[in-house]
This record gives sequence, structure tokens and C-alpha cells, in this order.
Amino acid sequence: MLLRKLLLGGASASRRLLFNKPPPASRLPLASGRMRFFSSSTQSEGPNDGFVTGQEGGDEQPAATITVDRSGLYHPPEHSHEPTTESELVKHLKGIIKFRGGPISVAEYMEEVLTNPKFGFYINRDVFGAEGDFITSPEVSQMFGEMIGVWVMCLWEQMGQPKKVNLVELGPGRGTLMADLLRGTAKFKSFRDSMHIHMVECSPVLQKLQHQNLKCEKVCNADENGEKSSVTSITGSPVTWYSSLEQVPSGSPTIILAHEFYDALPIHQFQRSSRGWSEKMVDVGEDSKLRFVLSPQPTPATLYLMKRCKWATEKEVESLKQIEICPKAIDLTHKIAQRISSDGGGALIIDYGLNGVVSDSLQAIRKHKFVSILDDPGSADLSAYVDFPSLKHTAEEASDNVAVHGPLTQSQLLGLLGINFRVEALLENCTDEQADSLRTGYWRLVGEGEAPFWEGPDELAPVGMGTRYLAMAIVNKKQGAPVPFQ
Ligand code: SAH
Repeated sequence: MLLRKLLLGGASASRRLLFNKPPPASRLPLASGRMRFFSSSTQSEGPNDGFVTGQEGGDEQPAATITVDRSGLYHPPEHSHEPTTESELVKHLKGIIKFRGGPISVAEYMEEVLTNPKFGFYINRDVFGAEGDFITSPEVSQMFGEMIGVWVMCLWEQMGQPKKVNLVELGPGRGTLMADLLRGTAKFKSFRDSMHIHMVECSPVLQKLQHQNLKCEKVCNADENGEKSSVTSITGSPVTWYSSLEQVPSGSPTIILAHEFYDALPIHQFQRSSRGWSEKMVDVGEDSKLRFVLSPQPTPATLYLMKRCKWATEKEVESLKQIEICPKAIDLTHKIAQRISSDGGGALIIDYGLNGVVSDSLQAIRKHKFVSILDDPGSADLSAYVDFPSLKHTAEEASDNVAVHGPLTQSQLLGLLGINFRVEALLENCTDEQADSLRTGYWRLVGEGEAPFWEGPDELAPVGMGTRYLAMAIVNKKQGAPVPFQ
């Protein structure tokens, strides 16, 4: 009954349904042509940093005049009209490699590129949507956030409708998922009143955008931890921002959402060599460009590699020439599982990934196109497939009180939560243009590859995210299996 009201109620199509351009490429990797070549042939031109050599030019000094020793004076470099192609981030990366006295891991490279506090890809701008670099499910259609709202409400019911719940979103991007979730559930008073929203976001620019999109106005007094909250005028719930999950207060039942967050966590890459597994590293070549090299000796991340291999079958590992591991994903999942074990509640992780070991998935996307990983770092998104079995093993090892469900495909998740009813309800009350946009959005969310049964023009056929994206739930066993993972 509640579910019916949620899916059919408030059936008005929102602003984002007006989407008359062909939809841009999502972070969904193209079905084919994903071979990657890791050579050093990338990069901007070498530096032209005007290093001062201190050499004097051939100044002719007239005879019998006082000569001045100018060798110690500042000698500015010749003014040049050549474009300086080396970004601040490239200089910074080279600086780390130089002062470290050797190459850095792919993980360290990825972390700097995405979240360096000054130059990171996410830090200073809005990277989402048709004008940005890639588009994600919440930006495709309001139905995505609404369906996640259905999941959160069902879990809250299973939790016994607690009076206070910490609803945490990791990496909320523009805040669209949360805004659609709150709008979709706003009429359920006791649910609405129980929600305390916590946004975990490292980018100040995106925090600001989330603040706007959640229509946050007032700033409340600081809470017991000294954090200031705003109030969203969508539901009147308090909203607080943090840069990491550890800062979010614990002690109340918690629901955690992570949509396309894990794929941005830094991964280490290992390659099989004559010495066994060698870690792939980023170095500066003789031509002064960034390039990949293999580590000659074991690296600290090898410990995580050994752990990952233990969770796989021998056959699975033997067949691989490369392997990716994500210690940050393992550590984060451990923390999530412990929090859910002590506070109650659950987490929903949705991302593109595999239900198996990930071999070679790291990709760079700029303006909706795949580019080379080392090309102009900081100007393209870097992301990697999520290794779902390693999250499952980690959560299960972290606590006996939690159970892991899934992964289901995104298509199964949204289908079982009732997206078909929702799209029908929305189609009853919209313009023709909105209806086209709704259908496109629907197929992008649940379709597989080129959307099956697509009835629109060929050139607008959406590439579906239905099976590449997987959903996994980690819940406190007290509640039983969450909807729709039963
Ligand atoms: N969930 C959103 C955005 C996904 S992109 C959506 O689906 O549209 C990844 C998001 O995580 C961005 O908001 C980025 O700024 C944030 N992020 C990436 N790494 C982070 C980190 N280490 N800590 C906090 N936020 C991070």
C-alpha cells in the first residue's frame, strides 16, 4: 500500500525531463573497444619553466667604464609566446616523483588527479551532465532518486520506523539523487521527520551545488560535534556536510547510500611479470613525460593483493595477466559494516563493476570521450570497475551482525522496486517532449547495451546502464533481507 502510494503519487514530471538533445555518454564503458595500451606516449609537452641558468648574455661593455658584477642578480627568463602546456597538477605530480626519489603507484596518481585539494578533477567544478564530462543515473532521470527513496523507505520500515535515522550519502555529486529521494518521499510525515541527512563530499564546489539543489536555507546551531547544519526546504530535514564518513556522528540507526562513489576510489594495478606480480607505477621518463613502469620489488599494496587472491579461486587468478585492487574500498566497506553492526540500518552500494576479480578497467573520460589515463591529468575523470566480491568478503569479515545481499543488476533492482509503475504514472501527466525524455531516461537506466525494444529514432537510442551497474546491500541482520533482495 505504502509502496503503491510512493510509486503512483505526485506523478508530475520534473524539470529534468526536458532533455531534447541526444543523451551524452555516461560513465558506462562502451561495450567494445575497451582495450587500453599503456605506453608512455601520452601527455602534454615537456616543461618550459624558465629555469634561470645565471649565464650572462654578451653585453658589450664600453672601455674605461666601471664594470659591475651582475652575475648574482635575478635574470628573468626570456618572454616566450609558446604555450605552456604543463598544468600545475603535472608539475605537482612530477614534484612528488622527484622528491620521493622514484615512481608513485597508480592509486596515488589517481587520488591526486581526482581529489588533490587544489587541482583535483572534482575539486573546482561541476563535472556532470551534458556540458560536463560524464552523466550519471540520477542526472538521467528523476526516477532513479525516487526508486532509491523507495528502497530507503522500505528499509526504514523494516528497521521498525525509528524516530531518528542518519541518512548518509557518499559522494553526492550535484545532490540530485538526494533531492529526488526527498521530493519523492516528502509526503510521508513520520519518515520525513526521522531523516537527518549527512552528505560526505570532498569538493567545496560540489558541496555548494548540493546545498543549492537541496534548497537549503537556514543554518542551524552547531550539533554536539560542532558541525553546522542547514535545513532543506524540500522536507525540513537537517543537512550536514563532511569530507569523510568517519566525521559523520554515529549512535543512531544509519542508512548509507553510495552511488558511483566506489569507482572513484584509487586502485592499484598489478601486472604479471617474470618476477610474479609487479605493481604498475607512474614515473617521469627521460623525455620528461609521465609514463608507466613496473616496480622491481614488492610494494606495500602487495598485502592487499594477497588478501584479494585468497578470496578468489586459483583458476580465476591464474587466468589473469593484470589485476586491480582497491584498498580504500576495502577499508571503507569495513567501516560501513562496523557502523551498521553497531548502529543498525544498512547500506546500498550501486556502481559499475563485476561480480568477480577486476583485471584492467581503469578509464579516463573527458567531455564524454575516453582518453588516455596519463593525458592532461586533472582534466578528465578517472574511474575503475568496482570489485563487488571483495566488498562482500570485507563486510562479512568485519562483523557477524551484518549480512550482504546481491549484487543484483541495476535493471533488476529498479524493476523490482517498481520503476515500470513509476514511469507509467509519470507518463500520464506530461507533455510529449517530457514523455520522450522519460522513455529515453527509463531505457538508459534499465536497458542493456543499446536499449532493447527502443522505439525512438536510431540516433537517439540510449545505451543502457541496466546490467553494467550492480547493486549490493549490506544490512544489519536484525532487519532481515532488505527489499528487493529477498
Ligand atoms: N553520486 C553522484 C556523483 C558521483 S561522482 C552521482 O551519481 O551523480 C563521485 C562523487 O564523489 C563526486 O561528488 C566527488 O566529488 C565525490 N568524491 C570522490 N572522491 C571522494 C572522496 N575521497 N571523499 C569524498 N568525496 C569524494
